[in-house]
Amino acid sequence: MGMARRNSRQVRVGRIAIGGGAPVVVQSMTNTDTADAEATTRQALELWRAGSELVRITVDTPAAAAQVARIRDQLDAIGCDVPLVGDFHYNGHKLLTQYPDCAKALSKYRINPGNVGKGVKRDDQFGTMIEAALKYGKPVRIGVNWGSLDSELLARMMDENAARQNPLDAGQVMREALVVSGLESAAQARKLGLPAEHIVISCKVSGVQDLILVYRELARRCDYALHLGLTEAGMGTKGIVASSAAMAVLLQEGIGDTIRVSLTPDPGGDRTREVTVAQELLQTMGLRSFAPMVAACPGCGRTTSTYFQELAQSIQEFLRTQMQVWKQRYPGVEEMKVAVMGCVVNGPGESKHADIGISLPGTNETPVAPVYVDGEKTVTLKGDRIAEEFQAIVERYVKENYSPENYPPGAPRRRPARSQTTPIKAVR
Ligand code: SF4
Repeated sequence: MGMARRNSRQVRVGRIAIGGGAPVVVQSMTNTDTADAEATTRQALELWRAGSELVRITVDTPAAAAQVARIRDQLDAIGCDVPLVGDFHYNGHKLLTQYPDCAKALSKYRINPGNVGKGVKRDDQFGTMIEAALKYGKPVRIGVNWGSLDSELLARMMDENAARQNPLDAGQVMREALVVSGLESAAQARKLGLPAEHIVISCKVSGVQDLILVYRELARRCDYALHLGLTEAGMGTKGIVASSAAMAVLLQEGIGDTIRVSLTPDPGGDRTREVTVAQELLQTMGLRSFAPMVAACPGCGRTTSTYFQELAQSIQEFLRTQMQVWKQRYPGVEEMKVAVMGCVVNGPGESKHADIGISLPGTNETPVAPVYVDGEKTVTLKGDRIAEEFQAIVERYVKENYSPENYPPGAPRRRPARSQTTPIKAVR
């Protein structure tokens, strides 16, 4: 079972805890112009509603910095207390000094050590940002990215490497430079007085194997909380697969205290998809639970129509939508397991492993759909209202089994969830 790294320092970002054995935190980033306070508030709200526990916004210009406090106020006014993280490059030292309301409204500052300035200016500008963090009591993320790796550091390390008897290959030097950039910047921040509990590190690359090697090394060499993510993961399934492949390996080793899945949305596509993917990654690994999961068979020549696919999809969507209300009203419902199966070959078996399951009629089967609740066959649905009736059964099950008045928090439910992986709550 993969666990969040217990020995990392815990960092508090607003009311959210990162590291030190806390559940892995899901975060995301807006792609609106921060100077457009309305659009940014709207998207931050959408990301939060989708389940993003931290939302990062770009703070790149005076016009953007001037709107940050307003965005914070607007979110608070709607009851959205998601901590906002400011993403700074090049001019962060100026913006954090000249816009104190922005510095106060943010809950964390992301500093990219490769984009802080060159030569003698670098240390001063980095120092100014750390001073702001100290003044306002904010944590920072030292966010290294191989696309903007500190060029002076890399040149120095390349020279040192060339002088070695057995030089490393360029990839090894690059990975080492990423780790050194993160650790040296963190050490510099510590020297200026920033406590280790106010520092998160990330070293993002876009290659799966590189990411795994870099983060293993980071985890071995420090106990700072780690923000994990594959940068420039890409679009569509490629982005999802690459992010999941890289992060799953590391999460399984207990590496990564907060994650972001960096997907390029389709034009006009939904930004919240990256949040859903991050949640599903953590939930399918048994690390956290966010929404009831639907097990569905892939379908095959035995499925009679697309009806089965439509039912699986509508149930999944129904559960996700209901979660907005259910998560307040029915604690524990996020661990419920639902099965939607195409026929009787594996249908009843899979349904019995779920809290609630249905098998649809396959080709040449009697046109009926047996429903299993807590492993027992309860009713057999037929006709053209199977989907609605099944949804009603799910809803009733949720009310009966997850209402706090029926099952006060901590009290065992009627039957332990038939999970294939041990729910993490049980082992934490
Ligand atoms: S459960 Fe039935 S429909 Fe689904 S994949 Fe298996 S045999 Fe095919």
